[in-house]
Amino acid sequence: MKRAKKIQQILDQYIPEPQGALSHQSLYTLLIAVLLSAQCTDRAVNLVTPTLFSKADTPEKMLALGEEEIFKIIKTLGLAPTKSKAIVGLSKRLLEQFSGEVPRTLEDLQTLPGVGRKTASVVLSQGMGIPAFPVDTHIHRCANRWGLSDGSSVLKTEKDLCRLFPKSSWIKLHLQIILFARAYCPAKKHDEASCPICSILHQLPKT
Ligand code: SF4
Repeated sequence: MKRAKKIQQILDQYIPEPQGALSHQSLYTLLIAVLLSAQCTDRAVNLVTPTLFSKADTPEKMLALGEEEIFKIIKTLGLAPTKSKAIVGLSKRLLEQFSGEVPRTLEDLQTLPGVGRKTASVVLSQGMGIPAFPVDTHIHRCANRWGLSDGSSVLKTEKDLCRLFPKSSWIKLHLQIILFARAYCPAKKHDEASCPICSILHQLPKT
């Protein structure tokens, strides 16, 4: 617990007001943007979504636009064929099963094509303010390096972080860790002696 608290203090110092970086205007466009961000940078997604959302910002309009046109707009992104198909399938399912609205539970969100646990959790937390701790590769890496989880699986990391940090801080913390990791905690070449977090953690007991 001591480690978790200390990490939270340092993150508050370095990333005091974290913001999600994906451009969107509604829950539906956030859902599409998060789906598109799989294995892509937020920056790359933000380059294609203005065109996509100017043509289709609702499930109805997306279905009318169709898979082929969607693909043409998002083709610079990795997994574009799969993502185009998922966007059409997801929009159809929203209309058929959820009256065109984005559902508000993790379980319902995960029934949508192309939407896994992480995407669903990001939409819940960033779009609806419902506490969730989406674990991406950065959070998984940091939690393991910081001694907060054993790195055995993403799901285990999520459970450990939810146990260690107060629920009221999950939404902010998940963004803080991602932003800190991108700026200071690279996958390779990290220097524990000069690092703002690890240099202090060495003096604390493991959780
Ligand atoms: S030393 Fe810094 S960069 Fe390396 S794991 Fe610790 S926080 Fe991350």
